[in-house]
Amino acid sequence: MDSGEGAGEGAGGAARQEPGLRLFFALWPDSATSAALHARARTLQAECGGRAMRRDTIHLTLAFLGDTPAREVERLQALAAQLEGERFALVLDHVGSWKRNRVLWTGPSILPPALAALAQDLEARLRVAGFALEERAFSPHVTLVRTARVAPAAAPLTPLRWRVASFVLVASERSAAGAHYRVIGRWPLQQRG
Ligand code: ATP
Ligand code: MG
Repeated sequence: MDSGEGAGEGAGGAARQEPGLRLFFALWPDSATSAALHARARTLQAECGGRAMRRDTIHLTLAFLGDTPAREVERLQALAAQLEGERFALVLDHVGSWKRNRVLWTGPSILPPALAALAQDLEARLRVAGFALEERAFSPHVTLVRTARVAPAAAPLTPLRWRVASFVLVASERSAAGAHYRVIGRWPLQQRG
């Protein structure tokens, strides 16, 4: 996940001339879900070492824009407001690890069609609007632990049900304390039917 980070140029490659923001679209958990995800992160950390994500930083990335001129924010907000996604339940019933960057994550073993549609529609509109995105396929996951020493043993997991009713635009800001995420827009998903 972390390979190639920082390579995002954003629209027009103008990021170097203007103050830029490091932006991404994401699903942000409600407080009960983030508490449950944080508990899962701590359990994994106890088993595998590393650094558990802070509760307030836990999210699922939908589309990563990277460095983007600040003036593009309004266009991104308008684009997001035009999406007509549906609400869905995301069942996080799987834990995985990436050896490459020592990340432990949780994700759904079944991709809800409404999530696939939302990610696809968002990506398509971003490309049409001229935002440069990487070609890699969408792989929904929630990072829970970084710099893990070992991979977790395969163990039965209580599925965690996250009712997703909105999506957000986030600015990733770095400080001495690590990444801090600032939500700069939120859009509701429609009730199905
Ligand atoms: P840091 O990189 O400072 O350790 P971070 O990875 O949490 O912290 P960002 O790099 O700003 O913060 O990334 C924000 C989100 O976007 C994270 O979920 C990250 O995994 C994801 N992300 C970062 N780079 C990419 C990329 N090139 N493609 C897809 N997703 C990415
Ligand atoms: Mg990163």
